[in-house]
Amino acid sequence: MKKGQGADNLVLSSVGFKLTGACEYHCPFCCEPDRSQKVYPVVNFTKISEMLWRHGTKRLCFTGGDPLLYKELYEVLSYTTRLGFKNVLLTANGRLLKKNIKAVGGNVDAVRFSVHGIREKHDKVVDCVGSFEEMESAIAILRDLRVSIYAATVVTNESVDDLCEILKWCAAEQISHLFLFELMKSGAGKEYVDNKGTVDDDALRSLLERLRQSDDAAKVEIIHYDYKSKGDCVLIYGNGAICIDPYPGSENFQLYVGNIFDEGLEKIIERISADPENVNGYVEHHKKYSL
Ligand code: SF4
Repeated sequence: MKKGQGADNLVLSSVGFKLTGACEYHCPFCCEPDRSQKVYPVVNFTKISEMLWRHGTKRLCFTGGDPLLYKELYEVLSYTTRLGFKNVLLTANGRLLKKNIKAVGGNVDAVRFSVHGIREKHDKVVDCVGSFEEMESAIAILRDLRVSIYAATVVTNESVDDLCEILKWCAAEQISHLFLFELMKSGAGKEYVDNKGTVDDDALRSLLERLRQSDDAAKVEIIHYDYKSKGDCVLIYGNGAICIDPYPGSENFQLYVGNIFDEGLEKIIERISADPENVNGYVEHHKKYSL
């Protein structure tokens, strides 16, 4: 949504495309509610992107699961690039990124990697030996291609002591933004939160302050989301289903708001706008950065 807009003229400036629920990794807190969700052909996403472009959307985040496992990735990325979108790819998998470099290079403006620790610690969290090294070598290729690189870390009781080191690593890798996400109680995240709890709010706040005052913060912008408000993101699935995410209190942390193919975008936007909390959540989320 553009700044200054009200609920009556909501423009979804940035939207997430859920290409697949599949992923090669096994993060114990993965918030994906359905890892085996149906995958839809690229024509569905190209039609949706045309509708969004006409409506005024400017940025698409390609997410999953891991969007690099979507077989028609090149087709969808090159199509949305031609339409004029800014494409952002969210992944954790450097090996798959290198394998798909032809689809990605030239068709994405930014790649955001999930980083859950440094070296073996990261490998242990995603349950894949060598994954951190693969990510570093993919980052080097993206740097040469002048693609912006961001990192994202889920803040848990197991990762909180590593945040300083992760920030330092980001600065050394010329990563411009580090997103710190709190846990979401969806997918495997539900059981994870029940078993391991969450980081104490006050402790996290003072850690964030310390991180923001460090020398590395001059090179890396730190963006924190607590995922406590509704409606940070609008996600669209390949069947046209649109969900507000997160939506604390609902069964899978999302709220289904309609189907773009069945109802068109205007009706769905009206429905999203009916709750000012959704609009505020979206505005506040996107006010934090303009990537
Ligand atoms: S959190 Fe991301 S990288 Fe980890 S298993 Fe889930 S989709 Fe894969």
